[in-house]
Amino acid sequence: EAPQNPYLASVWSDLTQRNQHDPLFLQAAHEVMESLEPVLNENPEIARLGVVERLCEPERQVIFRVAWMDDAERVHVNRGYRIGFNSALGPYKGGLRFHPSVTLDTIKFLGFEQIFKNSLTGLPIGGGKGGSDFDPKGKSETEIMRFCQAFMAELFRYLGAMTDVPAGDIGVGGREIGYLFGEYKKLTQRHEMGVLTGKSASLGGSLARKEATGFGTVYFAREMRRAAGEELDSGRAVVSGSGNVALYCIKKLQDLGVTVVACSDSGGTVVDPDGLDFDCLKLLKETERKRLSEYPRFRKRAEFHPGKKPWSVACDYAFPCATQNELDGDDAKQLIANGCKLVAEGANMPCTPEAVSAFKEAGVSFGPAKAVNAGGVAVSALEMRQNASLESWSFNEVDEELQRIMASIHTSCRNFAERYHRPGDYPFGANVAGFVRVAEAVRAYGVT
Ligand code: GLU
Repeated sequence: EAPQNPYLASVWSDLTQRNQHDPLFLQAAHEVMESLEPVLNENPEIARLGVVERLCEPERQVIFRVAWMDDAERVHVNRGYRIGFNSALGPYKGGLRFHPSVTLDTIKFLGFEQIFKNSLTGLPIGGGKGGSDFDPKGKSETEIMRFCQAFMAELFRYLGAMTDVPAGDIGVGGREIGYLFGEYKKLTQRHEMGVLTGKSASLGGSLARKEATGFGTVYFAREMRRAAGEELDSGRAVVSGSGNVALYCIKKLQDLGVTVVACSDSGGTVVDPDGLDFDCLKLLKETERKRLSEYPRFRKRAEFHPGKKPWSVACDYAFPCATQNELDGDDAKQLIANGCKLVAEGANMPCTPEAVSAFKEAGVSFGPAKAVNAGGVAVSALEMRQNASLESWSFNEVDEELQRIMASIHTSCRNFAERYHRPGDYPFGANVAGFVRVAEAVRAYGVT
C-alpha cells in the first residue's frame, strides 16, 4: 500500500496519521501519490522543498454553523464547510456541495482533486471546495433561499474574486448561486461579479457554464477515441446520474450520434432501449425537479428499476456522472463482460480503486475525473475572465474554447504518460501533468 520512494513513504505515513477519519481524502491522495513516484525519482528538489506534503495539507479550513428557519418556523442547524486547499496557481476555485452525506472528509477529498483538475485546465485557478450537510430534497423554494442566505452570512468573509471563488456542485445550481450572490452583494455592498461562478446569465454568468461539465466530459471521451483511431459517433452509452453533469453528457452524446440507453437517480435506473428522450429528462429533472421513476409515464418502452445502478445494462461506453465510489469492482466486471470499451468519469472519483484496476487489466480505456470533468471549472474560469473584462461571450465562443481546453488537457495527459513510459495511462498522465504545473509554482514562491 505505502509508496516505494522513501520521501513519498514518509509523506504517506504522516498523512495517514493525520487524516485517520478521512477515508475519501486518503483514497484520493493515495491515487495521486502512486503516480508521483517516477517524477520524484527524477527531481530530488521536490522532496527537499517538501512540495508533496505542502500540497497534501489544506492552506485553510473553515467550519461554521448555519442556522435557518423552515416554512413551519422551526429552526434547523446545519454544518457549513469551506476548504482553501491550495492557492499556488490562483484564487481558491471549486464548487459547493449541499448533500446530507457531506462531511469534512468529503470536502477535503474534493478540494484535493480540485487542485490538480484546475491545474490541468492551464488557467490561473487554485483548488478549493465547500458545502454543507443540508439536504435540499423536499425543501421549498423559500427554504432553499433562506438556507443559502444563512450559509453566505458566515461564508462571505472568506470569499473574494481574488481570494476564493465558489461555484455549484451536487445540490447547488444556478438558482442557489443567485441566492448566494444576492446575499454576498448585500453584506459587502460590492457588486463583485467574479466572486461566484455558475451565475445565471441575468446576473453576469457565462453562457454554456451549465452545459460545460457534461459537454466537456464527452469532448474528452471523443479525444480518447480519436487517439485510438476511432470516432465517438455511434454505439450505445450508459450514464449514471441525472443532474447537471449527466444531463448535458447525455445531450452531447446524442448530438454526436451515440444512443444513450440508461441513466439514474438516487431512486433507481431508467432504461430506454430506443435511446433516452433528452427533452423529457430535462423537463422532469431540471424544470420540474421530479423523480426519474416518473419517466416511463411519458415513454412507453422505458422501464424503471428501483434501487438499481445502471452498470448491468450492456453498452460500449460508460459515463459515471453521479457521485463518488458509485461504480465498484463488481460493477466494473459486469461492464467489461458486457463489452464496454471506454469509461469516462463525469462525477468526482465515481470509480473505486478496484474498479479502476479492473478496467486497466481488461484494457478498457479509462478517463479519470480530474481530466474528464475539468470542463466545468474551466468554463467557470472563463466566467471569471468575462466578469473581469466586463464582457459576455456567445454560447459558441465559450463552447469552442471549452473544446480547445479539453483537447489540450487530453494532449498533456497523453504526453506525460508517454514521457514516463506509460502510454495510454490517462490517470497517471493526469496526475503528473496536474502536479508538475502546481509544483513549479509552489517552488517559485519559496517556502510560504
Ligand atoms: N463543482 C465543479 C467541479 O467539481 C465545478 C467547480 C467550479 O466551477 O468552480 O469541478
